[in-house]
Amino acid sequence: MSEPLFPRVALLGIGLIGSSIAINLRDRGLAGEIAISTRSQATLARAEEIGLGTSYHTDAGEAVRGADLVILCVPVGACGPLAAQIAGDLAEGAIVTDVGSVKGSVVADMAPHLPPHVHFVPGHPIAGTEQSGPDAGFLELFENRWTILTPVPGTAEDATARLTALWEAMGARVETMTPEHHDLVLAIVSHVPHLIAYNIVGTAADLETVTQSEVIKFSASGFRDFTRIAASDPTMWRDIFLTNREAVLEMLSRFSEDLASLQRAIRWGDGDALFDLFTRTRAIRRSIVEAGQDTAEANFGRQPPRKDAWNEPGE
Ligand code: NAP
Repeated sequence: MSEPLFPRVALLGIGLIGSSIAINLRDRGLAGEIAISTRSQATLARAEEIGLGTSYHTDAGEAVRGADLVILCVPVGACGPLAAQIAGDLAEGAIVTDVGSVKGSVVADMAPHLPPHVHFVPGHPIAGTEQSGPDAGFLELFENRWTILTPVPGTAEDATARLTALWEAMGARVETMTPEHHDLVLAIVSHVPHLIAYNIVGTAADLETVTQSEVIKFSASGFRDFTRIAASDPTMWRDIFLTNREAVLEMLSRFSEDLASLQRAIRWGDGDALFDLFTRTRAIRRSIVEAGQDTAEANFGRQPPRKDAWNEPGE
């Protein structure tokens, strides 16, 4: 068997992303040792039960000792305090990275704590589901998905190259950019869409003239697809909006202007404006399918529900 890419990897945080990385390291033989640490005893015990690592630590400092790669897989708001906690235990030459969905704030929060003898290469896999916790991970999560790395100025090229090789070995494609550009791109492709989903599901839940049971019963007409996104982890998403404030607000103001012009088109019966937009948006969907980022199957390839699963939802 060939040498693993990293003799010892420390995973701090073992939810959806941490466990998916652990499964990849384990099943593809990419790490010699996989040291796992997380905040709660219950999560750590579960990670051990399902065999995600080779050692388990309540103390994050102990997990990172001797590791040549340290990956923070915790909510964005927890990255700074965790970096402070492990700083004194980081090995000479270790690569320190994260998987946080916002990069500017993570760099600002972590960099001041990291000693000069480590390489800091922040990262973000553009892959996920609405599930959380150590049982949510799976081997194929990063397959054919992009991972963005945002090395800070002065980062050794070799460190970025080694981390790139790891993501590629997990099936991902890798691109590098600045943290600021990452945050702007993600605001429009991920953060604002999530906010819209949270908002529309919240609006429907608060309606008085349409009952909640009707919202649930007739959800397959479009609403259901928003609910998947709106079921995403509340802690993670609270942190994203608090830490990517500027970029989200900028994209939201563009969105609000465009929404107002759609409102005007509907009010004035401007069918051409609606038709033109809907034609352009259809082309975007086609490009996503052509780029291999989604299936071309109707309704995302979903099967119709079994007849015995047809329950009348409660109020
Ligand atoms: P998750 O399934 O909820 O797992 C979070 C992990 O972080 C758990 O091990 C949890 O520990 C730990 N944690 C939570 N709060 C903490 C705190 N205040 N201090 C220290 N540890 C804490 O989360 P996830 O979906 O894997 O997300 C992890 C990171 O990946 C986030 O930064 C997120 O932005 C990023 N990300 C997520 C997705 C996605 O779709 N989910 C996609 C790309 C990137 P305990 O269980 O022990 O409390």
